[in-house]
Formats: sequence, C-alpha cells, structure tokens
Amino acid sequence: MVAHEIVPQSADDAADAVFASVEAALRFAFGNRHRGSPDTLARYLRSAMGGAPRFDDEIERAAWAGDIRRRADMLPPLSRWLLIAKFAPKAFPCACRRACCSGWRINEEWAEAISEIVSRTPEAVPATLLQRRLCQGVVKRWAGGDRVNIGLLADQCGVHRNTAGKQAKAITAWLSAGFTLAIERAHAAIRGEVP
Ligand SMILES: [Zn+2]
Repeated sequence: MVAHEIVPQSADDAADAVFASVEAALRFAFGNRHRGSPDTLARYLRSAMGGAPRFDDEIERAAWAGDIRRRADMLPPLSRWLLIAKFAPKAFPCACRRACCSGWRINEEWAEAISEIVSRTPEAVPATLLQRRLCQGVVKRWAGGDRVNIGLLADQCGVHRNTAGKQAKAITAWLSAGFTLAIERAHAAIRGEVP
C-alpha cells in the first residue's frame, strides 16, 4: 500500500496526502471520539496489506484519528487546548431519548479545554483582578461557542464596561497569539518534525 502523508508537504504533492490541511486533520481527529493508539494504526497497516484501503472504513478512520491525536498530544498543554477549543465539536449528537435530552451532548473534551484556557487567562492581563465568568465569556466567544455580549456580561459581573472591554481585548489578543503558535507547532508535529 502507498504510505500516505497526513498533510501535503507542498502544493505539488497535495494529491498524496490524506487531509488538505493541518486544520482539516485536527477537525477530523478531534471529531472522532475513538482516541486510538499506536497499536491501532499498526494493526490497520497490517490489515490494509490484504485489501484496498478505504477511508470510510471504521478501523482506518480510527487509526488516522489516533495517529493525529498522538501527535497533538505531544504539544504543550496550552497549544493543545487552543486547538481543541477551535477545532473540536462543541457537542455530539445524542440518541439517549431521555425526556431531558436536547439531542446534543456537550463534548467534555471541548468543555475541559475551555476551562483550562480560562484558568490561564491571567497571563493575558497580569496584575489585574479578573472575573472568571467574564474570562469564560471571552474565551467561548473566541472559540465560536457562544455569542457573548461583553457589555452585558460586565454588568452581570459588576465590572465597569470599559474595564471589561479592555480586558476582553487583551485576552482575545493573547488567545490569537497563542493560537498562531499552536498552529505552527501542530504543522511541525503532524509533519513529524520535533514540535
Ligand atoms: Zn441524550
């Protein structure tokens, strides 16, 4: 079988790669709940020798997701959380049929990443007293999870709107810078370079 690359090294070999971009590879891996393991990939590679590999095959899906996840797991925690916050699904469809079920179940991995990032937000505005709820609103807004009105949130937290606005701006800039670095590291890790 052909040893496919996860993402293209250059525009010339795009056809040989499994995913068009690092972003696409991460979205796939974080959306695939099977965490996988190196063993899974090895088993897949062996089994694929006997037949034509099909990407819609469940074992193959799990193997690719596991391999990409293993590489993402090597990144520093903040980088990994920022990638999860942006690229992991916020919720998965739920078929439990309980009366209280909305048909969606929160993705715990995404919620955990948001919580960890919120805990690190004081790095964005040192020597400032921050309201965790405000920080959480800013992080969720950045991650695309919630439409958050910072002014209303500031009122609810008892923080002056101007202060909240400045803090939100600083936190968002910190998130963007951290995300840029995380993407660079993910490129290196997924291409097999040392992150
Ligand atoms: Zn349910």
